[in-house]
Amino acid sequence: MTKKTKKQKDIYTGFEQGPIRPPSEADSLLLRLTRNCPWNRCTFCPVYKGRKFSLRSVDHIIKDIDLVHSYLVKIMEEIDKKGRIELNMMDEIFNSFNLKNRTAFNAALHWFSTGMKSIFIQDANSLIMKPADLVHILKHIKKQFPMADRITSYARSRTIVLIKEDDLKRIAEAGLNRIHIGMESGSDNVLKMIKKGVTKQGHITAGVRIKKAGMELSEYVMPGLGGVEFSEEHAIESADALNRINPDFIRLRSLALPERAPIAEDYRTGKFKKCNDIMMAEEIKRFLENLSGINSYVKSDHILNLLEEVEGKMPSDKEKMINVVNQFLSLSPERKILYRMGRRMGLFRKLEDLDNSLELDRVKEACRLYNVTDDTIDVVIDQVMKRFV
Ligand code: SF4
Repeated sequence: MTKKTKKQKDIYTGFEQGPIRPPSEADSLLLRLTRNCPWNRCTFCPVYKGRKFSLRSVDHIIKDIDLVHSYLVKIMEEIDKKGRIELNMMDEIFNSFNLKNRTAFNAALHWFSTGMKSIFIQDANSLIMKPADLVHILKHIKKQFPMADRITSYARSRTIVLIKEDDLKRIAEAGLNRIHIGMESGSDNVLKMIKKGVTKQGHITAGVRIKKAGMELSEYVMPGLGGVEFSEEHAIESADALNRINPDFIRLRSLALPERAPIAEDYRTGKFKKCNDIMMAEEIKRFLENLSGINSYVKSDHILNLLEEVEGKMPSDKEKMINVVNQFLSLSPERKILYRMGRRMGLFRKLEDLDNSLELDRVKEACRLYNVTDDTIDVVIDQVMKRFV
C-alpha cells in the first residue's frame, strides 16, 4: 500500500452507523466501533455478505461520540428554553451548527426522544477490538453520556473465549454491561453445518465468562436452523447449552431464507430441508420442555417469530410458554393457516387475534387472493417472510 493510500484511509469521513441492531435496542443510540463482521461465514446470515470487515480508528470513534454529544447538548438547551420540541425547531437548530451531519443529528434527536437510557455499539463483534482501545472508548462514552445506564454490544463466543478474563472484567467495569451473543444452536452438528465457527463448548465457556465478568448476557437461538434433519437435536442441545450458561435473556429468532444467505442456495439444491411453521412450533415446544435449572427470561421479540406470546421468566412461566405452543398446535388445520397468514401479514400478534373479526376478514381475503391452501401455505409464507430479512 502506498503512503498516500494509507493516509487517505485515515481521513475521517463523518459519523457512521451500521445496518443492524438487536430488536431490544430500538431506543438505543447506535455508535459504530467496527465495520461489518470479521467472521462473515455463517450460512444463514445475509447482513454483511460482500462487505469487508475493518476496525475504525479510536480517534474517529471519539469524534463520532463528541459530535453526537454536541448536538445533544444543543437540543437539550433549546428544549430547556422553549419547553417543547417541534419539527421546524429541529431544522433551525441543525442549521445553526458549523459542522453539519444529519445522520448524527438524527441519532441524537432519536436518542433524546427515547429517554437516553441505552447505547448499542456496532457492528457484529465490537469485542474484537484491542481491550485497551475498547476500555478507552467506553470510558469516553460514559463521560459524554452519563445518563445512559446500559451499554451493549454483539459479540462472537469465539472472540470472548480468546479475551483474558481480566480484560473482560476491565471492559465490564468501563461500562459495557450487556452482551448479545448469536448462539443460534447448541448442537455441534448444526453449528458445523451453518459454519458458525464455534462449538457448543465454546458457547458455554464464553457465556459463563461474560456472566463471571459481571455483564448481562442475552443469547439468541434460531428455531428451524437445524432443518428437518437436526430439528430434535437442535432443540435439545440448545436447551442443554443454555442450562449450563443460565443467561439473563434467551431470545428466539426464527430462521428465514433471504436470497443473499448461502443457506438459501442449500435449500434450492435440496441440501437443506427446511422445517415449516408446524415443525418449528414442535421444535420450540421441545426446546422449552428441555430448559431447566435456570432463571433466564425467555423472549420471542422478533417479527420473524410465529408465536410472539412465548415469553416469560424461567422456571415459573415454563408451563405457560409451552401452553402457548400447544394452543397453536391444537388449532384446526384451517385456523392454523389463518393464524400463520395473519401473523406473517403483521395483522396478528397473539392467538386470540384470530377472534378479531375485522382483521380475520382481511386475512381470509388475502388467502382467497393468493389461493392459500394446505398445499401452498408453506411457499406463500416463505415469500412473505422475505419481506422482513
Ligand atoms: S457472526 Fe453474526 S454477523 Fe457474522 S456472519 Fe455470523 S451471524 Fe452474521
